[in-house]
Amino acid sequence: MKAPAFRPRPAPGLGFQAIGAEEEALVLDVLRRKEPFRYYGADPAHPPGMTAQLEQEFRAYIGTDYALAVTSGSAALEVAMAACGIGPGDEVIVTAWSWIACFTSIVRVGARPVLAEIDESFNLDPKEIARLATPRTRAVMVIHYQGVPAAMEPIELEAHRRGLYVIEDCAQSLGSRYRGRQIGTWSDIATYSFQYNKVATSGEGGMVVTRDQRLYERAVRMSDLGSYRPVHAAQVPSREPAFVGGQFRMSELSAAVALAQLRKVDKIRDHCRALQARIVPRIQGLKGLRLRPVADPTGDFGFEIYLLLDRHEHVAPFREKLDARNVNCGARTGTYPQYNRDYVKTGLAHAPGLSPFRDFKDWPAPGYRPEDFPRTEDITKRFLALPLGWRYTAEDADHIADSVIAVHREVIG
Ligand SMILES: *Cc1c(COP(=O)(O)O)cnc(C)c1O
Repeated sequence: MKAPAFRPRPAPGLGFQAIGAEEEALVLDVLRRKEPFRYYGADPAHPPGMTAQLEQEFRAYIGTDYALAVTSGSAALEVAMAACGIGPGDEVIVTAWSWIACFTSIVRVGARPVLAEIDESFNLDPKEIARLATPRTRAVMVIHYQGVPAAMEPIELEAHRRGLYVIEDCAQSLGSRYRGRQIGTWSDIATYSFQYNKVATSGEGGMVVTRDQRLYERAVRMSDLGSYRPVHAAQVPSREPAFVGGQFRMSELSAAVALAQLRKVDKIRDHCRALQARIVPRIQGLKGLRLRPVADPTGDFGFEIYLLLDRHEHVAPFREKLDARNVNCGARTGTYPQYNRDYVKTGLAHAPGLSPFRDFKDWPAPGYRPEDFPRTEDITKRFLALPLGWRYTAEDADHIADSVIAVHREVIG
């Protein structure tokens, strides 16, 4: 009988792999109190407190002033956009390489996404702001892609010099840092997700953070049908008029799971960074292959290692050979080039009058076609992503490094 050649494939995953007794205890607490709704419950003497506790610990963890729990990371983006008052006639700069919701949240509030190139960090190239800004630009949305902080200092300087809001989408990178400070503190308003694939999860869920009292009140109103309840007014007295909002309130059950998960984020990060540190030094100097440059390597969460091959025709054989060695390895992780997605190709919103693209004579217009993004196309055709996870061991990490070295010899030589 043929012996298995390689160690078994490790189970991928971050927060969901760490779900255990802590999550169970907090969920049971909500159920036993019969209080699944955040604002009131069965016992008028003891208002529910799980979502409020999550917000309090979240803002302490990030080191910011205000945190608002919502139903998803996508909802968080819409709430952030609305808090900034962005709408029809406005433009928002966002990387072409980003998650669906980055684009759709802008369209959903009636504004127009203006797509920017990434650089080899896979994050926004700060120089794109100067190239793309117009008198209609209101904001720059920065995505911290897969645990790696974007270069927030040049981005923030460039955007704020022009009077633009900076919105950080931290959905993939809770717990990552830039220059010693948590991401999410480098912008006017920032968003997070607790969806299943994220660093910490409650299945679905999201968070909005800000230091700005006006943005906080407007975010609350957007998330709660325009209301601003006493629990929020106790943090920031109301100064803003009511407006028509959506309904994006987090449930106490989601908050219970998210709270237990939040308390594990540093442990998950330390684990991932230790795995990464076993691999990176061994594969760093290989010819014909580079690692994703990181604006601040000390702030990388460490859950994914990116190889950038010099030649795109090496990518498929490299991936196939790694896969054959039971190394988890992706060519598309967490995002896509927006211009290749159906909702961009059609240019439609749910009703014709709402589409910010309705006045373009030809569609897709320049700025929404693959040929308009030569750098993004080039970079995203040359990479391999090696995920690390909570269940990976040091031996798994060593096997990844051994395999990259062996496959490199076979494919690149
Ligand atoms: C996951 C994700 C979102 C959306 O989060 P959901 O909770 O799934 O709605 C937004 N932006 C980025 C970059 C993401 O990865």
